[in-house]
Amino acid sequence: MNILIFGPNGSGKGTQGAVVQKKYNVTHIESGVIFRENIKGGTDLGKKAKEYIDRGDLVPDDITIPMILDRLKKDDCKKGWLLDGFPRNDEQAKALDEALKKAGIQLDCVIEILLDREIAKNRIMGRRLCAADNNHPNNIFIDAIKPAEKDGEMVCRVCGGKLSARSDDQDEAAIGKRHDIYYNTKNGTLAAVEYFKKLSQNSNGSPRIIELDGKPGVKEVSEELMKKLG
Ligand code: AMP
Repeated sequence: MNILIFGPNGSGKGTQGAVVQKKYNVTHIESGVIFRENIKGGTDLGKKAKEYIDRGDLVPDDITIPMILDRLKKDDCKKGWLLDGFPRNDEQAKALDEALKKAGIQLDCVIEILLDREIAKNRIMGRRLCAADNNHPNNIFIDAIKPAEKDGEMVCRVCGGKLSARSDDQDEAAIGKRHDIYYNTKNGTLAAVEYFKKLSQNSNGSPRIIELDGKPGVKEVSEELMKKLG
């Protein structure tokens, strides 16, 4: 099973992605995570990407597209993959579609999480990352996933791990830029979603398109997702 997942920053895309990953035992590839690992490791790629990420801009396509296409060639992708955070614009969508066709790889399903921009912004500003596992959801503004407290400090509600906020999550201007890119239907991420919807319409419903309302809590959204995935 090869799947794309779309949703604005703050829609719970990473969390739902982890649910899908478990259900199908596919490899979860998150472009943002690959960039952050490279920044942490001080690699050349990380150095090049950091300034764009800190500003909330997209890392240029000539860095990002080959990075993801190379990642999809790795052995752990043979059992299927879930791609999250890529494609982010129409150029990346086209490059991915063409690369998959060339390699004879089928895209089975496209998941889109729908959420208003204002709600997404508040969710981003409240989210905290667990040092032990980036799939442990914590958000200071959402009661259901509020961090726990230990010795007067906020810790992960799942494992008690250390929490931190991403620097690009606390900067309203950077969040605004990321959302400008996502909600752009002309050549941003919604244009990439549209690219695959058209592809589906023109090829008898392949890939399958699944739309989800992102407003309810994490549990409700994942139940809906499981129902629709079948
Ligand atoms: P994310 O963790 O998905 O929010 O990604 C964090 C940042 O990494 C984004 O704001 C971009 O700067 C960069 N990034 C992630 N995915 C892509 C992509 N597909 N194309 C360009 N830049 C990306």
